[in-house]
Amino acid sequence: MATASIITIGDELLIGQTIDTNSAWMAQQLNKIGVWVKRRVAVGDVWDEIWTALDEESNHSQIILITGGLGPTADDITKPLLCDYFGGKMIVSDAALQNVKDIFTKLNRPIIERNLKQAEVPDVCTVLNNRRGTAPGMWFNKDGKIYVSMPGVPNEMKGIMLDYVLPQLPALFNLPIVYHQTLLTAGQGESFLAEMIKDFEEALPGYIKLAYLPNYGMVRLRLTGRGADKVAIAKEVNEKFLILKLLVKEYMVTDTDEPMELIIGKILRDHNKTMGTAESCTGGAIASLITSIPGSSNYFKGSIVSYANDVKENLLLVSADTLKTTGAVSEETVTQMVKGAINNLGVDYAVATSGILGPGGGTPEKPVGMVWVAVGNKEKTVTQKFQWRFDRQRNTDLTVQNALNMLRKFILLEQ
Ligand code: ATP
Repeated sequence: MATASIITIGDELLIGQTIDTNSAWMAQQLNKIGVWVKRRVAVGDVWDEIWTALDEESNHSQIILITGGLGPTADDITKPLLCDYFGGKMIVSDAALQNVKDIFTKLNRPIIERNLKQAEVPDVCTVLNNRRGTAPGMWFNKDGKIYVSMPGVPNEMKGIMLDYVLPQLPALFNLPIVYHQTLLTAGQGESFLAEMIKDFEEALPGYIKLAYLPNYGMVRLRLTGRGADKVAIAKEVNEKFLILKLLVKEYMVTDTDEPMELIIGKILRDHNKTMGTAESCTGGAIASLITSIPGSSNYFKGSIVSYANDVKENLLLVSADTLKTTGAVSEETVTQMVKGAINNLGVDYAVATSGILGPGGGTPEKPVGMVWVAVGNKEKTVTQKFQWRFDRQRNTDLTVQNALNMLRKFILLEQ
């Protein structure tokens, strides 16, 4: 199997100022085309460290992908280093120069010497045009291994990967076909599911693997088949997938690898219904996710972020009495918030949240992590109390995902 190493370069990665999203994205893409990512290494803008990383990774992998350190500033040393490493000399690439000029003409900005330097490349590489920026990608071959250096800017790296690297690798290596099928379950943890499908998993052939991917209290089950024959591997994985679906039927949310906000959107669109949210503790996070889907204006009308009690009272018509007697974090409050949202936003379905996400603000009766969620339509409301035990962000994410799942179930039962 073809193996790859990813080297990401930049001091900012080591101090955690920039999160290394490049190698995660590259690994996902390589995995899709059947390249096994063996190692991911981050190094600072230090000559010896980069050199050593190149030496080491070439002992491990056939493909070495590098990002970062190509810019026009003094700390960007990747390019001269690669020139030395592969024994070349710097020349001006006409194509890269034209690209720099085109970009500056479009921006209507003068080019300075520093920008022109972006067009210099080692004469021992193949230049990969960067249609999203000035630093070109560089492709080197040495001792049967491939080295590709790309800019650190994620958008520019992606362009070069999509334009050159990913299309060219299959022709150079005998890559297997990788075929995935994924389903999403909710309501049971991975150990319960693993027990439930133990026999199925044990009977899988070696070239089909089952992965458990837990997230936000839900679990994705992914079957991955690898083989030489595309049709045969897809057929076999699909057959096994059918069996898996039947086995976990009770807990299955969807048999596609789609986020919850997309699933909800499809259901609402299919049934020609609308929704809105009344959010206290989630502060609009549910609305934000729903509207991250293009075309959501077809079914999403709006949100009332009712963080303060007087907004719950004035805009959602939660009764002052309820807020006084049961408090904002209560079943009664979220039930009235749903009603208020349905009436005031003019939607078919609404979801409401109210809770204490932490780290402070809890009481013995209402501890940190306690959240009430309600979903409903004009006739009916369903509520659920959650007790999370994580940090604020994770408690928020869990509330959002579980509220969306409650809404999904509610809509499907009502149809
Ligand atoms: P440019 O020529 O555009 O400056 P470059 O190759 O010099 O590109 P860097 O200077 O290393 O790239 O980084 C440019 C930007 O990309 C920075 O904002 C940096 O934080 C971001 N970046 C670099 N590496 C990564 C990475 N591995 N994951 C996500 N972002 C990254």
